[in-house]
Amino acid sequence: MAAHKIICWDCGKVIDDVYADTCASCGGLLTIKMDLEPLKNMRPKDLHKTPIGVWRYAPFLPADPMKKVSIHEGGTPLYDCSALGNEIGIKDLHVKYDGANPTGSFKDRGMTVGVSHASEIGAKVVGCASTGNTSASLAAYAAKAGMRCAVFLPSGKVAAGKLAQAMFFGAKVISVDGNFDEALNIARKLSEERSLYLLNSINPYRPEGQKTVLFEIMDQLSYNVPDRIILPVGNAGNISAVHKALVELEEIGWITEIPMLTGIQAEGAMPIVKAFASGKKDFIPEEHPETVATAIRIGNPISGRKALKAIYSTGGCSVSVTDAEIIDAQKLLGRTEGIGVEPASAASVAGAKKLVDSGIIDRNEKVVCICTGNALKDPDTIISSCAPPVRCSKDMDEIRKILSQ
Ligand SMILES: *Cc1c(COP(=O)(O)O)cnc(C)c1O
Ligand SMILES: [Zn+2]
Repeated sequence: MAAHKIICWDCGKVIDDVYADTCASCGGLLTIKMDLEPLKNMRPKDLHKTPIGVWRYAPFLPADPMKKVSIHEGGTPLYDCSALGNEIGIKDLHVKYDGANPTGSFKDRGMTVGVSHASEIGAKVVGCASTGNTSASLAAYAAKAGMRCAVFLPSGKVAAGKLAQAMFFGAKVISVDGNFDEALNIARKLSEERSLYLLNSINPYRPEGQKTVLFEIMDQLSYNVPDRIILPVGNAGNISAVHKALVELEEIGWITEIPMLTGIQAEGAMPIVKAFASGKKDFIPEEHPETVATAIRIGNPISGRKALKAIYSTGGCSVSVTDAEIIDAQKLLGRTEGIGVEPASAASVAGAKKLVDSGIIDRNEKVVCICTGNALKDPDTIISSCAPPVRCSKDMDEIRKILSQ
């Protein structure tokens, strides 16, 4: 396992309580400082003996690959999307499709590392609050590790596929009368009481696994650094993890340029967009987040300050898209490229289109949109936004008539 320590992201203090989720001295966010020295004598291809996937990048990860809890996460496709690019006006557009992970979202990247760590420290019960995908993923990894699992979900606001997964993998599913931010407060209290080991992205081990989406993109582009990477932003763990990965690659000299990190939020849940618009380093939480993209229906993003730093320090930006733009982008991606993503993921594509239209993205940029989750996660939204099936009798003439229309 690569040497590492947990430190406070705000004050730098070393943290030795494995259950801590904030700094005891300043209340700051935690992060992991990896010892990257061994990587400084290596090249990217030195890792290619291991197949592409999260554990190829073990020297960047704070967990022992020999003891990993894994169901083959990562190694997802990076699609060349010229048809979609034509539609929205970008010549060199790629989609990193993290909906191809074992439970259908990028959360598996963080969860394999987070649950491996939980197993190392002997945790028996793991838990999380979730808009859906974190719970689906944790439930699967807890099953694989033989741990008990409790998940806290905002009542009535979790897409069918995600809820089904958490139930199916045997987690205790608790439906909280409240939104995600409130469910997270409950899970954090139980973690403080040591009733469970918390695996939300406030846990510093989770984002470490999520760094690997960036390492894979670089491998898949043969280290031709894109100009821009666009992600949906909910709790803001993923964009922060991608930034951390870039900083680490720069530190070991594998890259010299850093893509502009661009964070997209839904209009009904956009604290980061507002903070960015007013040039602030911190954001004001929103009380009543609302959007069809339930995975980013979050008003108080835990890693929001990290996300803002990621955006400012890479020269990126943060903009919002409407629910209608999200649904249009979801369909456009499906119908031009055959890629099915859930609404939150489509926010990155909707954001790309909006930024081209407003002249912020140049059509010659090399752009990667990260699409975070699978279309099958949320069938209800798709069914209500597409034309219904055509009903007919078994009469062949009637069927021929319908087909010719
Ligand atoms: C969790 C999730 C997001 C948001 O990611 P953050 O790290 O919370 O910003 C976006 N899309 C999907 C599909 C997700 O599951
Ligand atoms: Zn601190």
